Amino acid sequence: MSMTAADFVTLDEQWSTHNYHPLPVVIAAAEGAWVTDVDGRRYLDFLAGYSALNFGHRHPALVAAAVEQLGRVTLTSRAFHHDQLGLFCRELAELTGTEMVLPMNSGAEAVESALKVARKWAYQVKGVPDGAAEIIVAGSNFHGRTTTIISFSTDDTARAGFGPYTPGFRVVKYGDTQALADAITPRTAAVLVEPVQGEAGVLTPPTGYLREVRQLCTDNDVLLIADEIQSGLGRTGTLFACEHDGVTADLYTLGKALGGGILPVSAVVGRRDVLGVLQPGEHGSTFGGNPLACAVGRAVLELLRSGDYLARSASLGTHLHARLGSLVGHGVAEVRGRGLWAGVEIAPGGLTAREVSEELMRRGVLCKETHDTTLRVAPPLMISRADLDLGVDTITEVLAR
Ligand SMILES: *Cc1c(COP(=O)(O)O)cnc(C)c1O
Repeated sequence: MSMTAADFVTLDEQWSTHNYHPLPVVIAAAEGAWVTDVDGRRYLDFLAGYSALNFGHRHPALVAAAVEQLGRVTLTSRAFHHDQLGLFCRELAELTGTEMVLPMNSGAEAVESALKVARKWAYQVKGVPDGAAEIIVAGSNFHGRTTTIISFSTDDTARAGFGPYTPGFRVVKYGDTQALADAITPRTAAVLVEPVQGEAGVLTPPTGYLREVRQLCTDNDVLLIADEIQSGLGRTGTLFACEHDGVTADLYTLGKALGGGILPVSAVVGRRDVLGVLQPGEHGSTFGGNPLACAVGRAVLELLRSGDYLARSASLGTHLHARLGSLVGHGVAEVRGRGLWAGVEIAPGGLTAREVSEELMRRGVLCKETHDTTLRVAPPLMISRADLDLGVDTITEVLAR
């Protein structure tokens, strides 16, 4: 007897921890913007692995790079050099206009690494008394799941029950420059911010906010760390979401799409005088910067270098937002975001975002709620206009009232 979709769901529930609440679809194969479940039913992927799949599933150039590298060498540890690391780091620095790269694996590790670097920089360069550095973060942030990162989360689900918490962080309201100005002290090492808050519901800050944050950081000798793990690498129509405000950060965290949807690849990129504080033995990762990750990452960078994906995201994003915007007042309260990224706020009195996600799934479109009332729409950047329209048509059918 072959296993049914229900069998796979039961298996997951019995044997894997219950830290997720997935939609009851069991994916067995995928290509481009489409996935196929164990019963052979096809669905349009309108979530793209929260931007980990910006280039779609199994992009041929990315799979080819992985296969080629699998046939040569996959892991060396950083005890030895290999022939992909330096090339990956140079290509990433060149594309992002930065000077140095710290390769890691998951997004949370990149954020952790940036926090460590910022603290060390504060003690060694800025002259903050040892152990006293403060890092300012924004309310409703999402930066990952490690104990330090959840210490400064304002989401009780992510934080409660996991203490004691790491000290050294101050939380100020997202979008509020006065609150940030008031929180900066001579001990402030860095401000960590998402240019667009994805997990919070694709929240875009008020116009001018990021520029003012940049100015406050510059004026007070404070590092600006932009977490572009979800917003970066083309999602908003530019390489970095910060570019929309003409802002350059001192450090950027990257992840998700950097691994091409094939394996976890993350990095901190930024200023040489900041990342340069790390000395041998002070930080590391067994898998960070491994040959396979670097080879896939290099193929990702090559796709981005053409500019085609950024241009697609910008132009299809304008189309997406025009179409979703027309639903406001018809079952939709608000649409936020930029590029191929939208937080669709469901009007009160309608279905919950979870129910909408389930109904979309039944109609062949995979999307996911974030919080109770927001639908997060983030199709792969390679999606065709026809497929994009198909997905939006389905959302319209489910939401329009
Ligand atoms: C997903 C995400 C992270 C964490 O990445 P993981 O790979 O899940 O650890 C950090 N910051 C932002 C903005 C994210 O969207």
